[in-house]
Amino acid sequence: MSSTPDPGLDERLARVLDRIRSAELRYGRTGGSVGLLAVSKTQPAAAVRALAALGQSAFGENYLQEALDKRSELADLPLAWHFIGPVQSNKTRRLAEAFDWVHAVDRLKIAERLSAQRPAPLPPLSVCIEVNVDGEASKSGVTPAALPELAHAVAALPNLRLRGLMAIPAPAADFDAQRRPHARLRQAFEALQHEGLALDTLSIGMSDDLEAAIAEGATLVRIGTAIFGPRRAPA
Ligand SMILES: *Cc1c(COP(=O)(O)O)cnc(C)c1O
Repeated sequence: MSSTPDPGLDERLARVLDRIRSAELRYGRTGGSVGLLAVSKTQPAAAVRALAALGQSAFGENYLQEALDKRSELADLPLAWHFIGPVQSNKTRRLAEAFDWVHAVDRLKIAERLSAQRPAPLPPLSVCIEVNVDGEASKSGVTPAALPELAHAVAALPNLRLRGLMAIPAPAADFDAQRRPHARLRQAFEALQHEGLALDTLSIGMSDDLEAAIAEGATLVRIGTAIFGPRRAPA
């Protein structure tokens, strides 16, 4: 019996874990090689606590103040907190102090601030570089052409650990269309590995495209609505 306030939560989590496992099998991935980041933005701390009780330990948040409030409410739990929203300069200090991962680094200036502001007693901050795989000028993320220079510069910063790449492709209806931007990210990832960067994370795949992402090498899928249900009003 579940004592969670949301009785469907354990069923939805089980369904997502099953989708991940099935995709690993279907696309020849090693079992257990794809991790789950539960995206808890707009969800109350009680929902995070309920999911943690079901064994989930990594959570992704987009809004800094909401995330900090939730984190202090849940300070008794051994959770890993990932910031997956856009990073502005005036937020880097609190990100460096309170998070384990930052996914959407796309400028050297931001990376330099995060490294400089990471408190000494903490381990290096894990970061991913966000890549604009759709080629739309208005979107965030570094262009594939500018990626290698940025990646090598970020990897050289003392208090960061460059883990890999992340992308948020435009939604696409069918599987092949979902797969194409993920494939471009994977090529960029493998090129950086060949250049000697020790990367272990491809942060791609959301509720609607996790299978296509796993087919193209995702190691960490970021899943919100498929686990928690519809988002609440933004905090
Ligand atoms: C909200 C969000 C997600 C989760 O999206 P769902 O479609 O709800 O799974 C993943 N990644 C990022 C960057 C997000 O902002």
